[in-house]
Amino acid sequence: MSNENKQKIVASVPQKGFFGHPKGLFTLFFTEFWERFSYYGMKAILVYYMYYEVSKGGLGIDESTALAIVSIYGSLVYMSGIIGGWLADRIFGTSKAVFYGGILIMLGHIALAIPGNITMFFVSMVFIVLGTGLLKPNVSSIVGDIYSENDERRDSGFSIFYMGINFGAFISPLITGEIGMKHSFHLGFGVAAIGMFLGLLLFLFTKKKNLGLAGTFVNNPLAPAEKKKVFSIIAIAVVIVAILVAVSIPMGLLTFDSFVVLVGILGVALPIIYFTVMYRSPKTSDVERSRLLAYIPLFIAAVMFWAIQEQGSTILANYADKRTQLDFAGFSISPALFQSLNPLFIIIFAPIFAWMWMKLGKRQPTIPQKFSIGLLFAGLSFIVILLPAYFAGTDSLVNPLWLVLSYFIVVLGELCLSPVGLSATTKLAPSAFSAQTMSLWFLASAAAQALNAQVVKFYSPETEMLYFGVIGGVAIVLGILLLILAPKIQTFMKGIK
Ligand code: GLU
Ligand code: ASP
Repeated sequence: MSNENKQKIVASVPQKGFFGHPKGLFTLFFTEFWERFSYYGMKAILVYYMYYEVSKGGLGIDESTALAIVSIYGSLVYMSGIIGGWLADRIFGTSKAVFYGGILIMLGHIALAIPGNITMFFVSMVFIVLGTGLLKPNVSSIVGDIYSENDERRDSGFSIFYMGINFGAFISPLITGEIGMKHSFHLGFGVAAIGMFLGLLLFLFTKKKNLGLAGTFVNNPLAPAEKKKVFSIIAIAVVIVAILVAVSIPMGLLTFDSFVVLVGILGVALPIIYFTVMYRSPKTSDVERSRLLAYIPLFIAAVMFWAIQEQGSTILANYADKRTQLDFAGFSISPALFQSLNPLFIIIFAPIFAWMWMKLGKRQPTIPQKFSIGLLFAGLSFIVILLPAYFAGTDSLVNPLWLVLSYFIVVLGELCLSPVGLSATTKLAPSAFSAQTMSLWFLASAAAQALNAQVVKFYSPETEMLYFGVIGGVAIVLGILLLILAPKIQTFMKGIK
């Protein structure tokens, strides 16, 4: 963005009014709160909706396929951030992207709320994937826009925003989980739709006053000549994909399994393409190339980390349903409630971690070390959850506190890796690609879940020890490797801390 536009934006946003932060943060905080409320609320019941029998209100899909679908879904949601980021940057600006995204998400949840068949379910997936791609990266990037370059409140602004994400993620499983599991899944999805509706209303009615010009500029608009070329390419691509789909489905080539493989390949290929393009670009300087090399191992660590963290809503959700004592201490717990644990722990411990980093000052771990600690905790969380089977076999139900402990440990890692990850991406990606850093960071989650879709099929109560052991073990080995390489990576970062 040009300096002049940046200044105009900052001047147009009331610089006080939300906990000492610009008023625009209020709008962004609650828009993202409601978006995450609807996303994680839906996700808390999605896997059960898919594999519960039709007589219990579900779709009756087999468990292993259901787990893979949730992973594919999560992967596509974050992959589509590339499209959302591009559209905002070149065609309509971030504010419109957030608004259109919210509408698509709401429609997606409404489609799920209407009792329908599996076709309806896939239609809703398309809406939510595209909608989240439009909304999520763009709402986060507006947070950066409302502060001036040297405003010291910027980092804490992102931390407050991060709290909004996790408040939404915490509250929604308590509501959609309760309603969805005890009354009807569709009603639960309906609550998610209402959440997004409220978010949209709030965004619409407060944006002018609070956000001023933020999000209204198109940073790098398509020139008229380019427009024609780009739109023809898009049209041709859409037609080719449509033909391929129309031909391959009846021929039996595009089956669910081949689609899973396709997304898996995309999950790995997209980051590779991104890195190659950035590395080879003439706009990238030598120092930036070195930083990019340093970023690769961090990115791989992030993929491994999110692969485990995201299994909290697939494999561990299944574990909560099938392997856990849900009648506990006089209460009957819904398995969906476990989805609130991760964000709850984030809300409690994020301020403690922030305080700890501040106290440690210069003695705090470096970025690569934090990533490696993140991985070690993620690995440990899987080792912990294999212990019940190790001690008592897989025939009896497990005390829910094991799951609580596993979710807790992963959060210790998440707090080392996730808040640092985005800022590390911003600092290590070449400046010519700065508009895409958000999408690049989300590609780590996309790749993780694309790989998960391949991996989750190997899970079953009979194989659970091996499953958790191998994945947890790989994370720990990678974590140790990263710890050893950390000083070397730091030198490649050329002064970035
Ligand atoms: N849980 C965070 C969110 O929903 C992090 C997402 C990610 O990077 O995977 O925003
Ligand atoms: N901790 C996740 C994120 O920061 C939320 C979740 O997994 O529920 O938003």
